[in-house]
Amino acid sequence: MIETSRRGTGVPRRAWFANETAMAIKITYSYTRPGELRKHYLNENDVQTLLGRLPPQVWSRLRTVHFNDRSIGVRRLGYVNQGRREIAICALPPNVSLTRYLVRRSPLQFGAVRGSQWPEGAVRRFMLYDVFLHELGHLQIVEPKASSVRRKFAGHTKAQQFADRWRARLWSQPYEHRDPIHNPPPEMLARLSHGGKRKEGTAEYRTRNSEC
Ligand SMILES: [Zn+2]
Repeated sequence: MIETSRRGTGVPRRAWFANETAMAIKITYSYTRPGELRKHYLNENDVQTLLGRLPPQVWSRLRTVHFNDRSIGVRRLGYVNQGRREIAICALPPNVSLTRYLVRRSPLQFGAVRGSQWPEGAVRRFMLYDVFLHELGHLQIVEPKASSVRRKFAGHTKAQQFADRWRARLWSQPYEHRDPIHNPPPEMLARLSHGGKRKEGTAEYRTRNSEC
């Protein structure tokens, strides 16, 4: 049974609570103007939409999201700061393929085709529902008493498992939003409606550098 809000708005209480908490946590966004041959694929509205779908406890450490231009020739898509409170999402070229970041996973999952440049929507979907979720995974505390940052917070494998788990959960139900990146690509939905299981492959370590 869904509890209704005590304000009588009809909004499920859990969602109302999440929104209230989300409003109490102030996240700052910073933008660096990208170079001539790169652009930002995401902005704060995209991130806010995603965060609004997640329980606040999984992003309560987050304080700042940077949209910067430090991909170093598409060798890096995103990273977290040392204190695990800031996430950076890097600008990328206007024409790009990110298939190299997928190990034993199909780019179809995000709306792209192997061997071709990715459509903008596929890049945005991947940057938000894979890269950003992966970086958010690095903010999760896995050993609270550990003295070193490396042991205290999730490493790459656990961060990717976090991303895969939340993406699967968020995409398991249709989400009403005018921006299609918040749902799986139409091709995937068509497959699913023909008897396919809405389930993703297991987490794989990807070819990001050590800073991801
Ligand atoms: Zn990582």
